[in-house]
Amino acid sequence: MKSEVKLEDIVSLCKRRGFIFQGSEIYGGLAGTWDYGPLGAQLKRNISNLWWKKFVEERDDMYGIDSAILMNQKVWQASGHVDTFSDPLVECSNCHSRFRADKIDLNKCPNCGKEHTFGEPREFNLLFKTQVGPVQDESSATYLRGETAQGMFVNFKNVLDSIYPDIPFGLAQIGRTFRNEISPRDFVFRSREFEIMELEYFIRPETWEQNFESWRDFSHKWFDALGLSSGKIKELEVPEDDRAHYSKRTIDFLYDFPSLGFDEIGGLAYRTDFDLTNHQKASGKNLEYRPKDGSEAFIPHVIEPTYGLDRNVMAVISGAYTKDNINNEERVFLKLPMELAPVKLAVFPLLKNKPELVDKAKQVFKSLKDKHHFVVWDDNGNIGKRYRRQDEIGTPFCVTVDFQTLGDDTVTLRSRDDTSQSRVKLSDIDSKLEN
Ligand SMILES: [Zn+2]
Repeated sequence: MKSEVKLEDIVSLCKRRGFIFQGSEIYGGLAGTWDYGPLGAQLKRNISNLWWKKFVEERDDMYGIDSAILMNQKVWQASGHVDTFSDPLVECSNCHSRFRADKIDLNKCPNCGKEHTFGEPREFNLLFKTQVGPVQDESSATYLRGETAQGMFVNFKNVLDSIYPDIPFGLAQIGRTFRNEISPRDFVFRSREFEIMELEYFIRPETWEQNFESWRDFSHKWFDALGLSSGKIKELEVPEDDRAHYSKRTIDFLYDFPSLGFDEIGGLAYRTDFDLTNHQKASGKNLEYRPKDGSEAFIPHVIEPTYGLDRNVMAVISGAYTKDNINNEERVFLKLPMELAPVKLAVFPLLKNKPELVDKAKQVFKSLKDKHHFVVWDDNGNIGKRYRRQDEIGTPFCVTVDFQTLGDDTVTLRSRDDTSQSRVKLSDIDSKLEN
């Protein structure tokens, strides 16, 4: 029967097959950073493209933006991040290890085991501070953005003045975000540099509950589109004390990760008019929305769905990781949805020492690659080994060109999920690759 999948199995496959590597690995790494290899970069891009399609392109109430990572320091003062974006930090007086006070049992140090070595926690700000330009003083200080949301709030007026959207409408963005986590952990789950897919949906305040519900439904549709099983998704109503400083209601979406159990892959927050009101005060610019029917201007409230792109990647790989038995041999494969698979089809010549087969296979490869892009060539090892290799990276189909192909333009099409093989006409392969 199915053996339990562990996080280390996922980490190991990701490294072995070129999905995700430790950041700066040849120098011993840099804690809390990860690099995406050829297959991981493509998978991540497929996920973010799908998100953009579903959350921006297919809707008529959403607009994309792409704001700078560096912003005026006043943005982060007005947003409250400079004062309140922090985690409680404790340091062991014996071994000087530092921990997040809310993540450990404070009686005993998890590193050296000594008891009662922690003092009172102090607040540690998660923003990465940096300097802009050659002068190193407080006026040139700013931060790498701790969330993408502020880039949307500070452009709210620009958007109103340039495209005149009807309310309700949303601004969406996908981008890098930085948090100086005290203890990065669990692979790409908690890192210091990551990507967020996020939108701010501007509404009339009295409609917040219905909009909150509608984005809650839409979020579950997103997890479906990622191929995540609904039995592995849970919601957590975040209690008031744990909510971010700007939020009046928050739901976290949790995924049942191998080894970790249920943990956050997205969230939905009602941010009220907190951000726009603060930016209006701090900037002195009018950030009201003026309805086209001439009714009274007001500051819109905001519903914010957020999804961690790296955590979504990790959930997709974890959910797709499957073991079965083929001819009494254990097989590992990634059951990725066609739309997300980094490689959709691999083309092989049956034998690599027969020039006529290799020539024909190259022609087949080229014509499929021209049309479908995500097609690879593989002639290493025997056919069985090639299948295993493609299974492990989640390639849904493999095509083998053999002697019969030379006569009748049919090939063997082999399917990843059930390993079945069928004889198909070359001209019928296109339809297999459509989503
Ligand atoms: Zn210690």
